[in-house]
Amino acid sequence: MNKTLDYNDVFDSLHEECGVFGIYGSEDAAAHCALGLHALQHRGQEAAGIISTNHQNFFFHHDEGHVGDIFNNSNIISKLSGNTAIGHVRYSTAGKKHDTNIQPIFAELEFGGIAVAHNGNLTNANTIKQELIAKGSIFKSSMDTEIILHLIAQSKLNTISDRIIDALKQIKGAYSVLLMTNDSLYAIRDPNGVRPLSIGKLNESYIVASESCAFDIIGAKLIRDVEPGEMVVINQNGFKTYKPFAKQLNKFCIFEYIYFARPDSIINNNYVYDVRKNIGKYLAQENPIDADVIVPVPDSGVPSAMGYAKESNINFEFGIIRNHYVGRTFIEPTDQVRHLGVKLKHNANKSVLQGKRVILVDDSIVRGTTSKKIVSMVRAAGAKEVHMKISSPPTTHSCFYGVDTPNRSKLIAASHSVDEIAKLIGVDSLSFISLDGLYKSIGEAKRNNEEPQFCDACFSGQYPIELVDESNQNLPLFNNL
Ligand code: AMP
Repeated sequence: MNKTLDYNDVFDSLHEECGVFGIYGSEDAAAHCALGLHALQHRGQEAAGIISTNHQNFFFHHDEGHVGDIFNNSNIISKLSGNTAIGHVRYSTAGKKHDTNIQPIFAELEFGGIAVAHNGNLTNANTIKQELIAKGSIFKSSMDTEIILHLIAQSKLNTISDRIIDALKQIKGAYSVLLMTNDSLYAIRDPNGVRPLSIGKLNESYIVASESCAFDIIGAKLIRDVEPGEMVVINQNGFKTYKPFAKQLNKFCIFEYIYFARPDSIINNNYVYDVRKNIGKYLAQENPIDADVIVPVPDSGVPSAMGYAKESNINFEFGIIRNHYVGRTFIEPTDQVRHLGVKLKHNANKSVLQGKRVILVDDSIVRGTTSKKIVSMVRAAGAKEVHMKISSPPTTHSCFYGVDTPNRSKLIAASHSVDEIAKLIGVDSLSFISLDGLYKSIGEAKRNNEEPQFCDACFSGQYPIELVDESNQNLPLFNNL
């Protein structure tokens, strides 16, 4: 039987966590793309796809599942002809597992074929979709990305570049987007630069990818980040850059540094790993507590726990062992599986925990489900005291810019104080890094409260980009797939 959806279900379902990769001018474009997507697998584990072009035709392959399982034989790769390709890894929330929602998506427009891959979330997607449908547009998927194609198709401007700019000027929200025509690769980052996007080079080929770890896997060099509001065009004339949008303040997503990006990636000249270690250092300084052992919740808590241990001079040990053959706990479609996921993924290492005063370090508490299970597991293994240190401030607000967070009503910190959360998850003490501590970890002296240097809406409720659809609750539910 169909579940009745309320507005918030629909809103949740629009959120995506994704990774993009594009390469121009490589004989092994599709193979490089598959490897790059493999390095970006942490950004989306539900589906992956690649579209390539030999500058005449386009070729595609996509499926649900992990990159290594989808692009698992040379036949598949060799059918993706041409020296230019874009790819995408995708995660979507419950109810949205649908073939038509796998990216990159492709359309034939007046000027020829165009493929698009997008990381982020548009905040006026439903508003624009309503207008487009009223004008006769037909939508094949429930992805906001499809809106970009429609806007390009309907633009009255002459060149493809101008049409792309015209389309993007109408959308609001977070986007790091790759577009590929039969002769060019376009990479654009929204004017606030919310989601990451970097440029790399391998011999004569240019590459663009969500994170620099995707360059390392194929031996490419990181050149720099695509700047907020920049459009990069790569084709046989080389590499050109444009700044078509009105300048806005940078609002890079601070949660990328805390959790989402891979620790070996470099974002805005910062090693994500170093930032995480710094967070551990400031966590130890802000709320020191005596204990026998520092234990990370692997993997995401490891760098911060190392920073904490160094600063506090307390032993670092692997008191929780992670099974690497299951996906991220959170990225599971139903609450039921998510609950099970914690057990599938972690086991207590009794030799480290028995009789000890333990400090657990994790990156965030969202619903509280994970922490509760971990804490009871650590106690069952014989820990004498359990203290929890979290390398982010309390997550009090949902993200509307591309990180999947549940509806606010499910965020434990939205309705409970730190002491109440401590009780609910069963720890002797609990502390979170402060917002200033977090900013210090990334090299800022402190947070500028009037105009924060990052998007930290999930911790502050200060949304830097207008939430157009959110404030228009009368929109129809475009959610029939
Ligand atoms: P929970 O509190 O049970 O909802 O889950 C919190 C855990 O999920 C954290 O410790 C993170 O490791 C992970 N996590 C937090 N935010 C996200 C996210 N947006 N996507 C995937 N995993 C996340």
